[in-house]
Amino acid sequence: MKRPFFVLLTLTLALLTACGEPASGNTSADESSKTATTPAVTPELTTPNTPVTTAPQPMTTAPITSNVPETEPPETTDTPTTEAPPVTEPPAVPEDLPEMGPAPSVLEYADRKILYTLDETLLMTADGTVVTDLRAGHAVLAVEQIDETVTILYRGWLCVLDVDQLTGDVPASAVETQNTMGGIYYPAGAKLIAVDAGHQGKAMKEKEPLGPGSTELKAMLSSGTAGVSTRIAERELNLQVSLLLRDELISRGYSVMMIRETHEVTLSNAQRAQIANAYGADAFVRVHANGSTNPDARGAMTICQTAKNPYNGELYEESYALSECMLESYCAATGIKLNNVWATDTMTGINWAQIPVTIMEMGYMSNAEEDELMATTAFRKNAAIGMADGLDAFFEWENAN
Ligand SMILES: [Zn+2]
Repeated sequence: MKRPFFVLLTLTLALLTACGEPASGNTSADESSKTATTPAVTPELTTPNTPVTTAPQPMTTAPITSNVPETEPPETTDTPTTEAPPVTEPPAVPEDLPEMGPAPSVLEYADRKILYTLDETLLMTADGTVVTDLRAGHAVLAVEQIDETVTILYRGWLCVLDVDQLTGDVPASAVETQNTMGGIYYPAGAKLIAVDAGHQGKAMKEKEPLGPGSTELKAMLSSGTAGVSTRIAERELNLQVSLLLRDELISRGYSVMMIRETHEVTLSNAQRAQIANAYGADAFVRVHANGSTNPDARGAMTICQTAKNPYNGELYEESYALSECMLESYCAATGIKLNNVWATDTMTGINWAQIPVTIMEMGYMSNAEEDELMATTAFRKNAAIGMADGLDAFFEWENAN
């Protein structure tokens, strides 16, 4: 087979965005936005083997399990693809997450489905360019299958795997994790994003502490708002966008834990944060939409704690950066007006978090124009892409700080 090449990658992420709990039209602005610089990407997956210089070289790490006989000398070129354009420059090994490739977002593939690798395997494009390596049980987004060849979209790179390398069955370890901690778990790269689609089928009027050890009590979960024009329930909007975000994040190599994927759950704000904590998520993104008595109120905001928060004030800087990155990227991707990051200690689901957290208030469902916009598929895809861009930017920021 044709030996693997490594592409030289240069990351150009530029988008940033953010925010959670029902925040009824608040606009007590903090600062606004910091441009996330773009240094290294987070080291997420282990880098495949060493750079190939000129001479063909056998793969030293994960053998491609199926369509390449292992005994075959590496020089032979029986790559199933027809094109395989020769790479002219000596490729370099990506040290971090690959830069986003040229393919459209995974969300553009309607027939995509989440599969899992059966064994550790190199992920490469049809011309043999190695993009990364995946451990066994790694969740991937399959976008097409022709005969025995499955196309995977990974960070914008269209890669191919043999159908025998994949399974639709959730890995046993992930099932065990879910049974222990709750949530729906998609193991992939080293960074884990906890996604909480705000609200659920029924509100929970009982009260719970505002933060760990607090004597102040707050209703466990509100019912959320609804579209003034579309009548769409906020819980539904939040869930649909969160599911798109899940797919986009998996295709970018992130591990994802979904707090819920249906409306039929009974989880308070504090419980949701505790599930995210239990997973040790690297970021906790709470997806919400806003409502206001002022029908003209519009725009997006993100929410985090203050530096003086008695429960997790030490996470302020990270949560603020996350909120800022999410807000900027989200607004850039959707065209929604950028309002502000709101730092407040009144949100139970933030106060219970022991990891960087943000509430993404996507827009105002009380504003007819934004309500109708947020109901469209195109908008929702852009929202998910913008939030994923924001997470990429946040981890770049984290790497640089
Ligand atoms: Zn909400």
